[in-house]
Amino acid sequence: QSVFHNVPLAPPDAILNLNTLSKADPYPTKINVGVGAYRDEDGKPWVLPVVKKAESVIVNDASLDHEYLPIDGLRKFTDASAKLILGKTSPAIVENRFAGIQTISGSGAVRLGADFLNRFRKATVYVSNPTWGNHHDIFRDAGLPVQTYPYWDPDVRGLAFQAMIDEIQEAPKGSIFVLHPCAHNPTGVDPTADQWRQIADAIRHGEHFPFFDCAYQGFASGDLDRDAAAVRYFVEQGFELLVAQSYSKNMGLYGERTGCLTVVTKTPELALNVRSQMCKLSRASISNPPAFGARIVSMVLNDEQLFTEWKGQLKVMADRIIHMREVLFETLTELKTPGTWNHIVDQIGMFTFTGLNAAQVKVLRDKHHIYMTDNGRISMAGLNSGNIRIFAEAVDDVVR
Ligand code: PMP
Repeated sequence: QSVFHNVPLAPPDAILNLNTLSKADPYPTKINVGVGAYRDEDGKPWVLPVVKKAESVIVNDASLDHEYLPIDGLRKFTDASAKLILGKTSPAIVENRFAGIQTISGSGAVRLGADFLNRFRKATVYVSNPTWGNHHDIFRDAGLPVQTYPYWDPDVRGLAFQAMIDEIQEAPKGSIFVLHPCAHNPTGVDPTADQWRQIADAIRHGEHFPFFDCAYQGFASGDLDRDAAAVRYFVEQGFELLVAQSYSKNMGLYGERTGCLTVVTKTPELALNVRSQMCKLSRASISNPPAFGARIVSMVLNDEQLFTEWKGQLKVMADRIIHMREVLFETLTELKTPGTWNHIVDQIGMFTFTGLNAAQVKVLRDKHHIYMTDNGRISMAGLNSGNIRIFAEAVDDVVR
């Protein structure tokens, strides 16, 4: 008998499986709005020109080698990342009470934060309902109990704000709350500034610990500062917190696995202690992080000219997505598609939570060759002026 006889076949990852299905589909006007990866007007991945520039400098830099980075990564990268999310004048930066650890992109940052909390501040983790599916798996695999707090109200196709606040208030004291600072995945619905204030109050009152997962800074509104406002507000309010950052979307570095986990503490000494423990955890899982993506990001963040170019290119991506929202809304309105669709333009970031149900999603896939997750989430980046009408007409067909 095999050692592996009791290993069952795991189901394929829902989102990555959509990619496989879509790739295998020979239909000429198939549309993939499953995976959250930016596509340009021609439906192609976009290597940001500023990234190409940085790459060519790195490739031609004779002083660079392939030695290991330190366990906590490239310090120029982690410092610049902390400043990017917290703001250069953040009290945490000015008072040097932060530490940044380079991670395997946003996923690795969430996992390192989860491992750290499991070891030093174990508590129930509350994630939004719904959330990025991997949150459940990451926190569970790290050994933490996972619960959800209400987030999406299907009746208003918007934020279930009061229910969310109620849950924060009712959660056991000292729980961990995972928050999306901008471009909530999958709903595209973010709290307003005033709602963030109330969320912060409720979290403080419950002595809960905030863990921000920021995968879309600058990608949501096109403005890096605006998308970081929630995190900055919490820091100004004196919270200690964790924030996971990803450069997958905002720099298009998906496969380079470039991310950072930053902790904000009460004192510089505590930041050193936390850094040392995170190094131990990271050492035992990845030993030390990959260099190439961090070198690119570090160059872009630390060079004024390249930073300005990046902001322009970020805005190109954000604006194209915002424009696609408008066109989709207008086309559905023109087709007189039953239902209300204004949430398409009200939502923000990569995704629209369409409100389509699993049965409609299946018809879209089987009849129209349109691939989206069963919860009706679509990646706006998969749409362009060439396919948006086909998409809208298919939606019109399935809701009638
Ligand atoms: N958190 C959220 C909420 C996300 O949407 C994503 C990307 N899908 C990630 C984290 C992590 O992505 P990555 O590991 O590519 O940075």
